[in-house]
Amino acid sequence: MATQFEFTDRVGNSVNLPAQAGESIAQVLMRAFIPPLSVTVSSNGMQLADSHRLEEGRSYQARLIEGYDLGTIQRLYADYPDTGEVAYLKRRLVFTDDGHLTIEQQPLTLPETAQWVEDVIRQTIRRYALIKPDDTVVLGLSGGVDSGSLMLALGALLERGDVNFRLIAATFQDYDSRYTDTWDRSHALTTRFGARHELVGEELAQEVFHLNRPLRQVLPALMETEDAHQTMYVDHHTTRRTLEVFAANEGCHKIALGLHTTDLLAGLVNAQTAGYQLGGLPLRQVGDFDYIFPLTFVPKKELELYHLHSTGQKPKHSPPNPWEFNPLDRNFYYYFADFMQSFWPGVEFWMFTSPALQSPDASAKIAFVACGNCGGSLNPQGREWNAGDFCDVCSILARYGYVKGV
Ligand SMILES: [Zn+2]
Repeated sequence: MATQFEFTDRVGNSVNLPAQAGESIAQVLMRAFIPPLSVTVSSNGMQLADSHRLEEGRSYQARLIEGYDLGTIQRLYADYPDTGEVAYLKRRLVFTDDGHLTIEQQPLTLPETAQWVEDVIRQTIRRYALIKPDDTVVLGLSGGVDSGSLMLALGALLERGDVNFRLIAATFQDYDSRYTDTWDRSHALTTRFGARHELVGEELAQEVFHLNRPLRQVLPALMETEDAHQTMYVDHHTTRRTLEVFAANEGCHKIALGLHTTDLLAGLVNAQTAGYQLGGLPLRQVGDFDYIFPLTFVPKKELELYHLHSTGQKPKHSPPNPWEFNPLDRNFYYYFADFMQSFWPGVEFWMFTSPALQSPDASAKIAFVACGNCGGSLNPQGREWNAGDFCDVCSILARYGYVKGV
């Protein structure tokens, strides 16, 4: 006799779910888009945990204990259209004015996906007035897919006259560039559009952070300490702050970064759980600098397809830094952010444009302070702050003896 798994909703409708001996209860439920926490499951009068492995010939009864309309919501996920061989299915969960939910689905070819991505970037720049005519914008170009795709898109928009500004692409000479072709790849992209491209030398980072040795020696050494899990944040902050100083030397106070929807959602979840206050999106003022995020509404997957279409080749992923899988909690926020978008396509529009982030004076209310070492502006996040105090990153650098005179 086959294994039977019967699911009954709150109004008594029953349906048999596909189930096989050896599977866990959680597997059977998840496959049907039923949250394991929304049901109790029993067999022969015994309550069974989600981890129970189904047995041959046994029958199981799952009862919905939640009061929501699971069936209608489930169907949103089950009803994928058969789209044949298109490259991408753009989906968006729509809340209608009369309180209903629908899923908008648009199959896109690879060229259509690329067109979509450029349209979204152009609209984001316009709608949020990210760039004004005659602005100078420094683009942080790492040689990776994300910032490379942003370079390609901005280049295409500039070429077509859709936007008008001076673009300086800046590549930070960091730990990576010793063993990857970061500079060559970035340079090929910028020359394609005739944009200015500068290397931000590691001596500038050393100068800004008053380091007694090059940063490329500091980062691997930090991996050997008990603060190893902070190394990635040290890497990010030193890159960003050095870019700021480079931009300021160019008379520019606007910096574009290639952070996409998944990056920013993961950051939002992280900030929410840690109690950190975030600045606005897709424009964030930090001290004297305006950070702009033109990829705010472009999920990672669309960006990857855009890159593939624009360059005609699968992106080369750089070998990961030793600190990229560390800390693991950050990895989890990314995983969760991808699931958030899979279950709620378009969630970013609600999360990023929520009044909490967008109130006109949200940034103005933040009383920025300056780090006594790197000079970077930061939000003290409610901590007591004395003039000359170091930011978190400079405190770590000082703790291990890398800051001159400390
Ligand atoms: Zn600092």
